[in-house]
Amino acid sequence: MSQKILIVGAGFAGVWGALGAARVLERAGATAGDVDITLISPKPELQIRPRMYESEPHLMAAPLLPLLDAVGVNYVEGSVDQISVHDKTVRVTTASGESNLRGYDRLLLTSGSKLNRPPIPGLARYAFSVDCMEDASALEAHLKELAKRPDSNARNTVAVVGCGFTGIEIATELPKRMRALFGPNAAIKVVIVGSQADIGPDLGPNPRPFVAEAFESLGIEAVLGSPVISVDADGVKTASGVHIEAQTVVWAGGMRASTLAAQVSSRLDPLGRVEVSSDLRVADALHVFVAGDVARVRSDDEGHDALMSCQHAMVMGKFGGHNVAADLIGAPMLAYSQPFYATCLDLGEWGAVYSEGWDRQIKLTHAEGKTRKQMINTQWIYPPAPNRADALAAGDPLASFG
Ligand SMILES: Cc1cc2nc3c(=O)[nH]c(=O)nc-3n(C[C@H](O)[C@H](O)[C@H](O)COP(=O)(O)OP(=O)(O)OC[C@H]3O[C@@H](n4cnc5c(N)ncnc54)[C@H](O)[C@@H]3O)c2cc1C
Repeated sequence: MSQKILIVGAGFAGVWGALGAARVLERAGATAGDVDITLISPKPELQIRPRMYESEPHLMAAPLLPLLDAVGVNYVEGSVDQISVHDKTVRVTTASGESNLRGYDRLLLTSGSKLNRPPIPGLARYAFSVDCMEDASALEAHLKELAKRPDSNARNTVAVVGCGFTGIEIATELPKRMRALFGPNAAIKVVIVGSQADIGPDLGPNPRPFVAEAFESLGIEAVLGSPVISVDADGVKTASGVHIEAQTVVWAGGMRASTLAAQVSSRLDPLGRVEVSSDLRVADALHVFVAGDVARVRSDDEGHDALMSCQHAMVMGKFGGHNVAADLIGAPMLAYSQPFYATCLDLGEWGAVYSEGWDRQIKLTHAEGKTRKQMINTQWIYPPAPNRADALAAGDPLASFG
């Protein structure tokens, strides 16, 4: 009887994990039927989360069935709601609502993350987000609906709450998107609201002057240093008493790992990620490996941890896929390592700022930065062509990124 590898989640870690696992089997000469690899996710597509701040978010997905077929990976459309590491089973609710149990010999958990939504009054009801395709599409539909309403300050204003990477990218993209919908002469206003004193608290000093320059040129206002305490249909209020009148509020308050992480380990970091060492194996469930936003792991020898980011999820996914298959067939595992780190922050019509290293040495800005961002967003983070050779090569953990 064949042995079973299950991969839960078809994000960046899950898709490249499937390729990494299939590559190990190919290289070991495992014949069809020795080992089954099955990927489970709610839809047979890779949703390109890093592009959800752009217009037309419903187009930001790549089909997966031809690719999985090319490398011999099975696909199940459904959602995993329970994992029993003791019984080595997962409970899957399929698209048609049926619930069934599936056994595994090895599990790779890559169920990603979700926007953190704290219990701030009105947030769940009134705030939009760009966390996933469904949320980003709801924001787009709302903006289109607003375009039919009479011109007013509240209609023309968006409050973006959260000034990390996602908050900055959606805030700087909105002026162009709103002008396209409301007309070139509408007095559009974008206000970014942050609880800390700086824009992009985690960005460090190097990119910040460019973000400030972009805000200035795009007319984006910043209200900093006080948290939002309530959201309603008319806007947001901060703890310091500022009220921003806005018919659109976008919440960008950070991400938390999928709650499935807590079902495979008790060793979680404050973001809900499973703490693992470089083999990506869960210490308290040895048949389980994790990768992507559900994993907290060192990425280099200088003490940096992988971030909740697509660049880390893709590479970690390849290592996770390699190790889950290698462990099953008794081949050598690999230690995850990803010393190269780059950041490319989109700044709307101003351009983008691209930096390398954890101290973010600036390499490209303005239009040159934008060209790099477009290359990343339209090519580098998309799956390979659905032919076996290219797809298996893309699963090589030791091949360079980009
Ligand atoms: C607006 C925005 C901009 C971003 N910009 C950047 C950027 O510029 N650069 C960068 O590196 N990163 C960026 N990120 C972060 C990046 O998108 C994530 O870090 C990345 O998607 C993580 O990949 P992942 O595979 O771990 O998880 P995800 O991409 O979240 O994929 C998780 C997968 O698991 C599936 N899943 C979830 N729960 C279950 C379940 N119970 N059962 C079955 N399947 C399940 C999901 O449907 C999905 O297929 C951005 C994110 C957002 C929202």
